[in-house]
Amino acid sequence: MTTTAVDPRVELAERIARLKQQRRAVILAHNYQLGEVQDIADFVGDSLELSRRATQVEADVIIFCGVMFMAETAKLLNPQRTVLIPDPLAGCPMCDMAPVEAVRKRKAELPGVPVVAYVNTTAAVKAEADICCTSANAVKIVNGLPDKRLLFLPDRNLGHWVQRHTDKEIILWDGYCPTHQRITARDVKRLKAEHPNAVVIVHPECTPDVIDLADEVLSTGQMLRWARESHAKEVIVGTEIGLIHRLRQENPEKTFYPISELTTCPNMKRITLEKVVWALEDMQYEVTVPADVAEKARRAIERMLEVV
Ligand code: SF4
Repeated sequence: MTTTAVDPRVELAERIARLKQQRRAVILAHNYQLGEVQDIADFVGDSLELSRRATQVEADVIIFCGVMFMAETAKLLNPQRTVLIPDPLAGCPMCDMAPVEAVRKRKAELPGVPVVAYVNTTAAVKAEADICCTSANAVKIVNGLPDKRLLFLPDRNLGHWVQRHTDKEIILWDGYCPTHQRITARDVKRLKAEHPNAVVIVHPECTPDVIDLADEVLSTGQMLRWARESHAKEVIVGTEIGLIHRLRQENPEKTFYPISELTTCPNMKRITLEKVVWALEDMQYEVTVPADVAEKARRAIERMLEVV
């Protein structure tokens, strides 16, 4: 007699679907999540898309599959809803490179200089900012400000990319994404030599020498759109490896090469199907932001959403 093994992911996905209905919950997932987590989400997107989506949610509960600053952003935009993150230790090292005390100190050294905060910041830092931005809209946000000089934090690489597209003076913060930092120009050159017909697309969190080798510099949402619309058959991709899942799913006739297998964000991968089940069963872990911080931080995000 033979027995057919049931894929545990199918069973977990079914439990999640049942629990979601019971809790009147919606699942939002970032493009860098594990493929199986992306597959059970109601909506998958980049930071900007998820911020927008969070404002349109009708469910009572938002299960946020991403890292803490993203779940905080969903909470800021949905103060009346319960926002849960399946693993409260899913942080962002880049975000941690801009502690609020250091940001306040730097602001004091630069009186009158506006602060543009990448969404990869804590709610407390957003509350210190004049406006937020994502990698998809950073250039537009900076160019839309009347000021000639501004402090951009925390990502020095994204700030450097913006500097190439503005005549304003960008004062950089010395933060970076350790995952994108692992993408090297040497890897790009090697892959280009192996696949001479491939187009190179990279995220603006990559270092300037990698950006110099790219054909396109795009946020993850822009990469997905570009891949759908482009005629390129082979694409070398420089961002967190989770995006490859969706690129391949949506474009089965095209070939995608990650620049490096090392581009895994361990924090993004902390969210698993099991943890999503536990989040729904036990209503954990609730994301909260103190009211005074939330009000100021929300203003910085809403200003961004008004511009884009
Ligand atoms: S990929 Fe980089 S920026 Fe994104 S959450 Fe991970 S460490 Fe933070």
